[in-house]
Amino acid sequence: MTASQSGQLYIVATPIGNLADFSSRAVETLQAVDVVAAEDTRHSKPLLQHFGIHTPLLSLHEHNEQQRSELLLQRLQAGESVALISDAGTPLISDPGYRLVSLVQNHQIRVVPIPGSCALIAALSASGIASDKFSFEGFLPSKQTARRQHLETLKHSEHSLIFYESPRRLQDTLTEAVAIFGAGRRACLARELTKLHETIKTLPLAELQEWVAADQNQQRGECVLLIEGTATAVKADEQELSRVLALLLEDLPVKKAAAIAAAITGGKKNEAYQLALKLQHK
Ligand code: SAM
Repeated sequence: MTASQSGQLYIVATPIGNLADFSSRAVETLQAVDVVAAEDTRHSKPLLQHFGIHTPLLSLHEHNEQQRSELLLQRLQAGESVALISDAGTPLISDPGYRLVSLVQNHQIRVVPIPGSCALIAALSASGIASDKFSFEGFLPSKQTARRQHLETLKHSEHSLIFYESPRRLQDTLTEAVAIFGAGRRACLARELTKLHETIKTLPLAELQEWVAADQNQQRGECVLLIEGTATAVKADEQELSRVLALLLEDLPVKKAAAIAAAITGGKKNEAYQLALKLQHK
């Protein structure tokens, strides 16, 4: 059989909370295909029924992906069309599907994305954390030592960092992040996106950690944690130093203003002095 006689594999995003985010193209695709491969068929059945989708379901999860992928490849090669969904959001994003897509692609079968909700993108778009360059880190290791070690490796990342996090580990992760990235590094907690209790809070890490610790409600539901990278963190520090220096230079000599500004902002005296000299000659 040639590739042109094969069916197509559709990678279909489902909502991450709000059902109105299910696109009409996604619904039409799921209605039209021969089979829908779902991470958890019991979980997806009510959603599909709600949208009048009665296509047969087949499970494809972490533990049977290899074997199911072979089976779906055969069905695609026989000319059937297949859609892949996960429990919520975009398949393959911290969800199964990579093995299936790569296998199918290796057999020259067309893979068609039907884009839609994705928690990391929704979180980033509303976080106020720099979005030009970012690194999606998925879930952090659950063991504390491994988690700390992993965070340490990201300490100097220039890019914004995005994590999926369990609400049970959120407090510990935030405490570790304060110790590793510093109290002043800006971070965002995006919780329960598109749902009733949607919360998006962006604060310096130490304040975010205190805010979460003080409110049990912030330790529930689904969450995304974003931490700004060094590129914007440095800029923010410089802006703060300039602001404080400009005020002090109105009444104090350069050396004194630089020393006090460095003490207030936690910056280096020498850098504050160099900046003070520049500001003085402006
Ligand atoms: N494939 C999904 C996507 O496109 O975002 C992610 C699947 S991953 C197994 C589930 C994790 O995504 C949750 O533990 C949480 O970190 C994040 N997540 C999913 N829905 C969310 C929501 N409504 N609000 C915040 N985070 C969410």
